[in-house]
Order: sequence, then structure tokens, then C-alpha cells
Amino acid sequence: MASRRMLQSGAGAAVLVLMALAAAAQACIGSPRLLVLCGLAACAPAWFVCYALLRLAPELPRPTAGDPVPLRSAADALALEARLEHAPVALFVIDGQGEVAALNANARQLLAPGRVLDRPKLFAQLAAQPAQGRALLAFDTERGTERAMVALSALTVHGKAQRIAALLPLESELESETLNAWRQLVQVLTHEIMNSLTPVASLSSTAQGMLLELQPQLEGEAAADLAMDLTTALDAIARRATSLADFVGSYRSLSGMPEPRPEQIDLEALFARLSLLLEPAWQARGGALRVLVEPGAPVLVADPGQLEQALINLLKNAFEATAGVAAPCATVHARLVRGARLRIEVSDNGPGVPEELLPHVFTPFFTTKKGGRGIGLALVRQLVHGNGGTVRHVRPVTGGARFVLSF
Ligand code: ADP
Repeated sequence: MASRRMLQSGAGAAVLVLMALAAAAQACIGSPRLLVLCGLAACAPAWFVCYALLRLAPELPRPTAGDPVPLRSAADALALEARLEHAPVALFVIDGQGEVAALNANARQLLAPGRVLDRPKLFAQLAAQPAQGRALLAFDTERGTERAMVALSALTVHGKAQRIAALLPLESELESETLNAWRQLVQVLTHEIMNSLTPVASLSSTAQGMLLELQPQLEGEAAADLAMDLTTALDAIARRATSLADFVGSYRSLSGMPEPRPEQIDLEALFARLSLLLEPAWQARGGALRVLVEPGAPVLVADPGQLEQALINLLKNAFEATAGVAAPCATVHARLVRGARLRIEVSDNGPGVPEELLPHVFTPFFTTKKGGRGIGLALVRQLVHGNGGTVRHVRPVTGGARFVLSF
């Protein structure tokens, strides 16, 4: 468009030059008729020059919606920088040598104290990503391992190849999706199993009763033996069905958790109740249960019953894990951490959770215990999540296990 405008003004200038030449001719020769003729004669070539130039001028492509907006001023550059700075994902730039640098506020917040624990490890993970594409990354934070989606694209800036990585933490979204999926699965399974088990248990007890009534009328040793065997078999079926119904019923707690009723929790009082309830068992084993609410711990608004249940489950696991330890010890510690958050840690001096089991311990039905049901930690996660918190296992340097609840 700009070049067309330039051509039009060029053509205008050509007409003016021709008119000026005609005026000069009139001045020299002194004939007004000649001036008019020269003017008319100048119009034709001027029109032709203008037409030819317009035909020759290349038609510039119109910008489309996806085209980058060319920067016209420093103000444009500043506006672009501000948008980048406040983008709702953490942006990093990776240069040709694999050096990683934070590009915006979100990225700097992720690297700030209290978030990513091992910054070089995260940078190495980002640098190892392919030039284009998406992947799931896991990195350690003070709150435990977190997962994030990373998307990369390659570009050349000032002749140098670079990659831009956008990191979007997904832990809480993935966690709530996983919990919902488990809840639905457990709901369907328990419903179906209970529907089938209840008639099995009641019919076998009824059949057993009928057989007992029939027994006096049976004649012959063989018939009496058969009736005895049948009674024993029916009794076994009824018992197994009842205990299976109990077992399946306990999983209902995972799917049928009541809605939390939040209120301001007096942590000191809640911890005192815990201690009263559980400490005697620890002392009886020559151990100790310590509870501590640090001064300045923020007020927590949650369902006190559900929080207590979560802590009881964690302490039950701690109790079982420290069974073989000479001086078993568990600690429940609440304190204020960065970002005005409340952190409750439940730690013990048992053998700790083996590294290879860490990804599975919160999965419903996962257990390493003989007779374990594997719902303790799944329920803890559900209870804490339902009250707006997160729970993770963080490996303590001193050994043992440490579960961290953040609100
Ligand atoms: P369960 O107690 O029935 O096994 P949980 O869901 O409570 O089910 O625990 C799952 C698994 O996590 C346990 O079997 C155990 O392997 C591991 N675990 C939980 N708490 C601890 C702990 N404090 N120390 C070591 N391992 C633990």
C-alpha cells in the first residue's frame, strides 16, 4: 500500500514538472495558446506514466490474523514485554548451548525459595527436551514431587537458535482428576459387588436353616453325613460372603466421603485430642508421640473431623512402620511456611517409604502389609484434597517417613 502511494505522488510530481516545462516554454516564446497545448500534451504522458507505474507496483500481501504484529515503537515493545512477563505459564529460554534462563514472573516464582528444590536438575530436564513438542515433567518442591506439562518450540533470534519452553504445573489438576476417576470406579465396583453379595449371604443362611430343620427327618447314615457336609459348606459360604461384604463396605469410605463442613480449627486443641487418643499406645511400646503447633501458625479453615481422621491414618501407618524400632517416635508439627501457608508434617523414625514405592503409596488398594487394605493413604489424600490442601511424601534427610500436608 505504501509503495502505491509513493508511485501516485511520483506521477503527480511528473505532471507538475511537465507543466513547469510548458510554463517555461510560454515564458520564452510568449504564446498563451502554446501554454495550453503544452499543458494538455503533458497530461497524456503523465497519465500514461502514472498508469504504467501503478501496474508495475507489486501488490503487497495483506496481513492475516496469525501474522506477527510488526513492532512500530518502543511502546509496542514494552507492551509485548508486559504481556510476556504476566503470561499465566512459566516461560524459559534455552540457548544453543543448553543454558536455561527464566523469561517471566511465573518462571521466577517457580524457581524462588519454597518451590523447586533442585534448580539445576529442572534446568537439565528442560534442556534435555526435544526442540518441539510436549511432555510431562516431574520435579521436587518443598511440598513434594509435582508434575507439570512442558511445551517447547524452536526459533532463531539474531541468527541464533533458541528454544522457548512453557511449563504449566498440573499437580492439583491431575490429582483431582485421578481422585475422581478412583472414586467413580470404587463406587461402581462396590455397588455391583454388594448387590451380588448380599443375596448370597442371606440365601446361604436360609438354606442352612432349612437343612437343620430337615435333619431329624433324614434316615440313614449317608443322608445324615450329606446333610452335615451341606451345612458346613453353606456355613462357609455365608461367612465368606459376610466378611467380603464387610471388606468391600470399607472401600465405600473412599467413594462416599461426606462433604467437608469447614470451620476455624483450633489446632492446639485438635493436636491435644490426638495425643490423648494415641500417645498411650506409643508409650506402652517405650516410644513417644510428639505434637507441636509453632507460634504464628496460620488459622486453618477446614473440617476438623476430616483433618483429625487424616492425621489418625498417618499416625496409624507411622505406628505400624516403627514396630521394629527400638525407640519408636512420631511427630506432628504445624507451622507457618512461605506464602502464608500452613504446613503440617507427620514424621516417624521407621524405615521410610522405599524410593520405588513412592509413586504408588497414595494409590487406592496399594499395600505392602500382610492383611493391609491399601486405603489409608488414599483416604488421607481424599480428605486433605477435599479440604483444599495437598499431601505428599517428602524424604527426610534424617531417614524415616515424612508426610507433608499443605493448606
Ligand atoms: P495400608 O496401611 O493398608 O497398607 P496405606 O494406604 O495406609 O495402606 O499405605 C500404603 C502403603 O504405604 C503401606 O503398605 C506402606 O508400604 C506405605 N507406607 C505408608 N505409610 C508409611 C510409613 N509411615 N512408613 C513406611 N511406609 C509407609
